This record gives sequence, structure tokens and C-alpha cells, in this order.
Amino acid sequence: MPRTKSDHPRPAMNFSVFDLLKAGPGPSSSHTIAPMLAGLDFIERCSGLSAAVAERARRVEVTLYGSLSATGGGHGTRAAVLAGLLGHNPADSSAAPDRLLEDSGAATGECRLTVGRVHISFSLADIRSGPIVHDFPFSNTLTIALLDADAKPLYSMEYYSVGGGFLQWKGWTPPERGKPAHPYANMRQLRERLKDTGLTLHELILENETAITGMARPAIFNRLEIVTETMFDSVRRGLQGEGTLPGSLGVARKARGLLASAERIPYTVDRFLARVNAYAFATAEENAGGGVIVTAPTCGAAGVMPALLYAMRHNLNIGDRALREGVLASAAVGFLAKYNAAIAGAEMGCQGEVGVASAMAAAMLAHARGNAVAVVENAAEIALEHHLGLTCDPVKGYVQIPCIERNAVGAVKAYNACLLATCENQKQHMVSLDAVIQAMAETGLEMNSKFKETSKGGLAVSVVEC
Ligand code: SF4
Repeated sequence: MPRTKSDHPRPAMNFSVFDLLKAGPGPSSSHTIAPMLAGLDFIERCSGLSAAVAERARRVEVTLYGSLSATGGGHGTRAAVLAGLLGHNPADSSAAPDRLLEDSGAATGECRLTVGRVHISFSLADIRSGPIVHDFPFSNTLTIALLDADAKPLYSMEYYSVGGGFLQWKGWTPPERGKPAHPYANMRQLRERLKDTGLTLHELILENETAITGMARPAIFNRLEIVTETMFDSVRRGLQGEGTLPGSLGVARKARGLLASAERIPYTVDRFLARVNAYAFATAEENAGGGVIVTAPTCGAAGVMPALLYAMRHNLNIGDRALREGVLASAAVGFLAKYNAAIAGAEMGCQGEVGVASAMAAAMLAHARGNAVAVVENAAEIALEHHLGLTCDPVKGYVQIPCIERNAVGAVKAYNACLLATCENQKQHMVSLDAVIQAMAETGLEMNSKFKETSKGGLAVSVVEC
């Protein structure tokens, strides 16, 4: 039975905001970004092999496990690994992996991988599907091996896609980073740090970011602006999209039509919520089409935060500074969920993706509107609480049904969670963010693997194609 990260010694929490919020091609951070990074890492390591080893190399073989094996086809994992092996970095990519392969001719036939000074023929057929249930420490595992003429491994790596585009490997140790200025491992400790220091939530996150990454404030602000502009771009592009999404389901792009319908609604509240729906569809459809989005915290859930952020700027008239501070506050929620549970559909089901995205978005709005940290926490808690138990069951493995609609529901739920937290008496709020994250972790651990991004249960089997 796959183990969880709780079986491993836990390093201190020293995530960067930009670990969580990073640009890359969709449709799935676990299935696209991390496997692409694995391919790139492997080929870069191979360039350091001795000439004697490289010259004996004849083949590269990739094997996918867990949900990478089960739904890698619909998620574009094979194309992503190959794009990485061909030297493409998801952070710099302006196009989907399969489009990158088309450009290099690797999509249909054989291509040549460069191992040192040796060139090896490779095709998508060299990427095999391994067992869905296995004994590797993480569900989403892939192995890459350099083989000699007798198919004996000359060099191999075991990679783990651990959610949100994070990549680890056998023997991985956390990167050397500074210690956070204000360490915390849960919301209770974060509250204490805020009380002790008198800092606001976004100030504390900023001070930690500088201590952890060494980045000065102007550099952090600059990167945050790139992140938010990439989110806005994904909404804008999605609102222009037409036709159907890639894959055999024939799912129509709806964002543009949804926005047009929203603009005709005479009732202000309905019009606002309908716009939020359209914005979420826009980015989620861009993601499903392999476009560049920001993981927030994952590709599958990438439509939730931008939908609210776009609405905050364009419909709620919240200024850029408050938006930035809200994004920083949202990162605290993502950090806590990642550290104390997980944010991958393969580990937690969709509660870890859209659920966490909704909690982050609720915290973002609550903080940007100037609420106290108790309200911010409660907004995040409410949003996550009402995603508990949500399974991951993408039909045919495409990040389309239920994912796109689910992003819209998650965004509107975030808005309502913020309203609830703002309007209630804080003293009467009974559930802490720590409690709900713990509940998510336990639920995810007990959830049958068929509901965790394998497309073996739920909607994935009950939806019958016409
Ligand atoms: S159902 Fe949720 S967790 Fe699963 S692929 Fe879709 S968005 Fe991601």
C-alpha cells in the first residue's frame, strides 16, 4: 500500500510563495509540470555522465506509476516527460508540451535525445504504463533509465510528483534555504507569531519569504506581479477561447458564452456571481487546453484564485496593493495545507486541489478587504470544510469533467465563505483551520485509490459517453 509523507521525517516548513504559485503549462501540475521537470532533470544529469558510460547508452526508458499511469494519457504526461527530455523547462514554456513536440517533430515519430555527445532515438512508445498500486513512497512515481544494448541500466532515477508541480526523487533532500524569520507549523502557531510580532499576515509572509529565499522585497513584488499578470492573462485568453478542448470528450469551451450571458443579467448580485463563474471557466479551460496558467495551488484547480482575483480587480474595485497582500495571505493557507496534508489529487482527492484553492481564495479576499486574521482563517476554514471528502474522478483522465465546472463552484464557494466569515460572530466559530486540514489529511488517507486521480471511480465511470 502506498505510504504517505507522514511516514517520513518532516523537515521544517520553509516553502516559498513561488513554490506554490508558479507558471507552467496545464493541464495538471502533478501530471504535466513535475513529469516535465523529471525529464529535464534526467537529461541534465546524463550530461554529467562519463563518456565511457554515455557511449554504451542505447535506449532511454520511462515507466509511469500510480495515477500518472492511470490518467497520464488524458493529462498529457507522456508529452510532458518527452518535452522535458528534449530540454524544455515548464517555467519557460509558452506552449503546451504536445505543441512543443509538434514543433520539434517528436509528436508523431522518433526524436533524438542528447546524452553527453551521444544521440539516442526515442519516441512516445518508450514511455510505459506501470502499476497503479505500487510500493513507492508516493503515488505519482516515474522512473527513467538509461539502458545499454542488453537493456541493462547504466543510470536510473526514481522521481516522485508530490503535488502542485513539486518534484522529488529517491534520496531527495530539501534544498538549502534560509530559516523562516517567524517559524510556524500550523495555524495556531501562526496566530501566536502574529500576536508576538504585531505583524500583519502579509507582512509576516513577506519577512519569511525574504529569510527563506534571500529575495529582497522589490524582487518579491516584481515576481508577484508576474504571477498575478499571468493569472489575469489566463482569464483574458480563456474568455476569448472558442471551439472544443483537446481530447475525445469533445467538451466545448464555454467561458466566452458564460460571460456574454452574465452581462445580460439585470440583477447585480447574479451578474457578479455569473461573471466569477465565467472567469473560473476561462482559466480552467485554458488549463485543460494545455495553456500557461499559474498553479494555485495546482493546475487542476488553477481557475479558482484567478477568478476571484480578476473579479476583485475589475468588479469589486480592490486596488493592486490590497490584491498583492491578499495573494500573500492566501499563500499561508496553501503552505499549511501542503505541510499538514497534501495538495495533490492523487494523495487527497479533489479536496486537496479545488478545496485548498477555494480556501486560499477565501483567505485572499478576506485579507484584501482588511479583515482581522480570525476572519481570514475562518473564511479559509469554511471554504475547505465544505470541500471535505471531494473525490478526484476526471472523466477519461481529462482535466475537464468535472474539473472545469468545479473550479467555478470553488470560486463562488470561496466568495460565500468570505461572506459567512465576515458576517458571523467570530467567537461563535467552532472549527479551526488546523482541525479542517487535519480532517482533510485523514479523509485523504482513507480515501480509496480509485477516487484519487485514477479515473477508476466516481464520475469517471458513471458518465457514459454519447
Ligand atoms: S477532479 Fe479535481 S483533483 Fe481531480 S483532476 Fe480534476 S481538478 Fe484535479
